[in-house]
Amino acid sequence: MTNRFPPKGRTRDEILAELEAGKGEDVDWRGGRIGLYTHFGGDDVLEIAKDASRMYFSENALGASAFPSLARLENDVIAWTLGLLNGGDDAAGSMTSGGTESILMGVKTARDWARDTHPDVDKPVVVAPYSAHPAFNKAAHYLGIEVKRMPVGDDFRADVGRMAEAIDDRTIMLVASAPQFAHGVIDPISDIAELAQDRNLWLHVDACVGGFIAPFARKLGRLVPPFDFTVPGVKSMSADLHKYGFTAKGASTFLLSNQAHRKYQVFEFDEWSRGHYVSPTIPGSRPGGPIAAAWAVLSYLGWDGYLRIAGELLDAIDRLKAGITAIDGLTIIGDPPLTILSYTSEDCDIRAVAKAMTNRGWFVTRSADPRAIHMGMLTMTHVPIVDQYLSDLTRSVEEAKSGAIEITEQAITYGG
Ligand SMILES: *Cc1c(COP(=O)(O)O)cnc(C)c1O
Repeated sequence: MTNRFPPKGRTRDEILAELEAGKGEDVDWRGGRIGLYTHFGGDDVLEIAKDASRMYFSENALGASAFPSLARLENDVIAWTLGLLNGGDDAAGSMTSGGTESILMGVKTARDWARDTHPDVDKPVVVAPYSAHPAFNKAAHYLGIEVKRMPVGDDFRADVGRMAEAIDDRTIMLVASAPQFAHGVIDPISDIAELAQDRNLWLHVDACVGGFIAPFARKLGRLVPPFDFTVPGVKSMSADLHKYGFTAKGASTFLLSNQAHRKYQVFEFDEWSRGHYVSPTIPGSRPGGPIAAAWAVLSYLGWDGYLRIAGELLDAIDRLKAGITAIDGLTIIGDPPLTILSYTSEDCDIRAVAKAMTNRGWFVTRSADPRAIHMGMLTMTHVPIVDQYLSDLTRSVEEAKSGAIEITEQAITYGG
């Protein structure tokens, strides 16, 4: 690494070759060796996303009047997503750069809503289940508010009683996940929403990972409890296009049940030299590529395309669940209804299993509490590797039980 600015331009071939060579160290996500960070809906889906993204490579969604075509694409994506998640006529939304930004907008909107509705609160607190995504704390950290995380129940879902106990006169907001990331279980959203309504609190449902698969899973007959805008009291939601929407990265949605709350979301400013400035989300300039790619992929797949993919993924996770449960000593954590799961072991050290799987070339991700192997999120790269995974897992558990694997303490990370 040198801190010297490239003194001379290089050739396109040289540059692309260097990029390609650098990728050699990266995990083989196309081979299904990792269960998070990438989402694959098929080569055809990838190609249309790339083509659309390229067409809007330079356009900037900050300038809706300069690029009305881009504004229309974003409006379509939001309208379709609201349709999927049962937003009513009053619902509204914005595209964001990802789940973290959508959640940040949720916390920010709730905070500004509470300034009107809970004017006595000067140090606001958000009450969340322990399993909620770190993005809520990141948002709170940025916005100068606090998050109180409450222990989850034995089924790893939010414990509504404990959340109720945590509410005091500083509380402005409740959080629930559909599903949460660590174990893939869906919190009891209806009960939490009732609590939110009783106490006049904002409720954000984090459907970052579930938003674009749970509706299709339900259609396929899976037991998916109510989690979206059909539940009275849900005021905002996050749903990531760049996860189970299979669109280009840099794309999520932040949704409001009632557009009257948009005034708490949007930033407007006049006190400077260039006139009225208005911006609904965090960035100023916003890339057109992810918006165009999202519009193109949603149009390309449509309801029937997503339904087909959800069917294949649920089929794959059923086979994985059956295979994992059949291995003596392994248990799946909770009862995850979608395409995320974690498993652990009472008979052997799950860290040894993780190590043995790593030795077999899997990029194994783990959960901290309880100690587990996290399958992350299944996507279409995983459909062909289920049998291979299970046979490697069977052998890895045997090795772990035999004591042949030396356990090294290793930080459990997500990000970094
Ligand atoms: C992925 C995820 C997020 C964060 O989304 P990013 O796109 O990584 O910022 C938030 N909540 C849940 C449940 C997630 O799975």
